[in-house]
Amino acid sequence: MSSGTAVAVSKTQLDELNPFLSMSKRFDTAADHLGLDSGVREVLRTPDREVTVAIPVQMDNGQLKVFTGYRVQHNFSRGPCKGGIRYAPDVNLDEVRALAAWMTWKCSVVDLPFGGGKGGVICDPRKMSMGELERMTRRYTAAIMDVIGPDRDVPAPDVNTNEQTMAWIMDTYSMHMRGTSTAIVTGKPLALGGSKGRTEATGRGVMLSVREALKKMNFNVANPRVVVQGAGNVGGLGARLLQEQGCKIVSISDIDIAIYKPEGLNMVDVLEFIKKHKTLRGYPNVQQLTHAEQLLLDCDILVPAATENQITSSNAERVKAKLIVEGANGPTTAAADAILEAKGVVVVPDILANAGGVTVSYFEWVQDRAAYFWSEAEVNTKLEQVMVRSFAEVDATAKKYKVSMRIAAYILAIDRVAITYRLRGTYA
Ligand code: NAD
Repeated sequence: MSSGTAVAVSKTQLDELNPFLSMSKRFDTAADHLGLDSGVREVLRTPDREVTVAIPVQMDNGQLKVFTGYRVQHNFSRGPCKGGIRYAPDVNLDEVRALAAWMTWKCSVVDLPFGGGKGGVICDPRKMSMGELERMTRRYTAAIMDVIGPDRDVPAPDVNTNEQTMAWIMDTYSMHMRGTSTAIVTGKPLALGGSKGRTEATGRGVMLSVREALKKMNFNVANPRVVVQGAGNVGGLGARLLQEQGCKIVSISDIDIAIYKPEGLNMVDVLEFIKKHKTLRGYPNVQQLTHAEQLLLDCDILVPAATENQITSSNAERVKAKLIVEGANGPTTAAADAILEAKGVVVVPDILANAGGVTVSYFEWVQDRAAYFWSEAEVNTKLEQVMVRSFAEVDATAKKYKVSMRIAAYILAIDRVAITYRLRGTYA
C-alpha cells in the first residue's frame, strides 16, 4: 500500500517535469478555448517527423564511440522547420520533441513563416576536444542531410552549440550539395553569412519583453530589482541590456553558483569575469547563494534563463518576484503556472519572451537568401517592432479569453497554425 502511494507520487512529479507533457497540457487548455476539433488537435500535437541517428566518431584516443542524435520536426504547415541543436548528456527524445513543438508555437506567436524543429546529441561537450566535436557535428549533419535544407529545416545553436558548430554544419551541408548554402543554418559567424545583432537577439527580446510587461503592469519603480538565472547568451547578455535600461541586477547565476549583491551588480564587469574565468565562482565582493535560494530572493523581476523545470510546484508558492520573464525554454512547469497565477504573478511565457533569437534567425535566413545584408540598427529596429507587436497581440488575446499570457500565447499560436493547416488541407 505504502509503496503504491510512493510510486504514484513520484509518477506525478515525473510527469510534472516531463517537458512534452507540460507543453501538451498548455496546448490542450488553449485548444479547448479555441474549440479546436479533435482531428486538427491530433495533427497539431503530433510531431511530423522524428529522426534518430547513430553517430560513430573516432575519438582522440583512437577508439570509436557511437553517439545518439535526434532531429524532430514538429510541424511544417507554416514553412520550413526552425530550431536549435543542443549538445548535452541528458538530451532525450521527449525533451527534443517538446522543444520542437515549442518552436512551432514560438515562430507562430511572432508570426514567422516557419514551423518548429529541434535537434540534440547525447554527449558531454565539456569532456570533448574541438576535433572530436567537429567530427561528431559533421557526421551528425551527414546523418540528417536528407531532412534538413533551407526550404525544409534550418537548424541553429542552442545549449552548448555555437557559431563554430553552425559553421561546421554549413560547410558539411555545402560540401554534400556541391555549392555554398548559407541559408542552411542560422547563428553563423558574420563572415559566413551570419546576421548582425543575432548574438544579442534573444537577450534583447527578453529586455523588450520586460519593458513591455512593466508598462502593462503600470509598474513605475525607477530601478526594478532583477534576478537572472543563467549567465550565458540569453541570461548574461539579457542582464547587461536590462541594466542599460535602468534595471538593478541584484543576482545572477551559472551552473556553478549564484551571486547576490543587493546594491546591484556591474554586468559589464561580471561578463568580463566569466569570459576570463569561465565561471562565476570567485567573483569578488558578493554574497554566494545556492541555486534554490536564488530563485526565492526578494526582487521585482525574475528572469529564468538557464534550463527547464526551475519553477515547479515545490517552490512556486515561495517565489517573491511580481513578474517572471522566461528567457529559457520551459523553465516553469504547468503545475507551477497555476500557483503563480493564483498569486497574481505575471508570467511572460518563453514562446514570446525568448522569441527574439528566432526572429533574428529569420532575418538571417532572409538576408542569406537575398545575399544582401542589413545594418545592426536595421536588425534591432525590426526586432523591436516584432517583439512589441507580438507582446500587444498576446496581451489582447489574454484579455479577450480572460486567460494568462501563457495560455494566450498558445491560443494565438495554435490558431495561426490551424488556419494554415486547414487552408493547405490534408494531402491524401
Ligand atoms: P548558454 O549555454 O549560453 O548559457 C546557459 C547558462 O545557464 C550558463 O551560464 C550556464 O552555466 C547556466 N546554467 C546551466 N544550468 C544551470 C542551472 N541549473 N542553474 C543556473 N545556471 C545554469 O545557453 P543559452 O543560449 O543562454 O540558453 C539558455 C536557455 O535559453 C535554454 O533554455 C535555451 O533553450 C533558451 N533559448 C536560447 C536562445 C538563444 O538564442 N541562445 C533562444 C531561445 C531560447
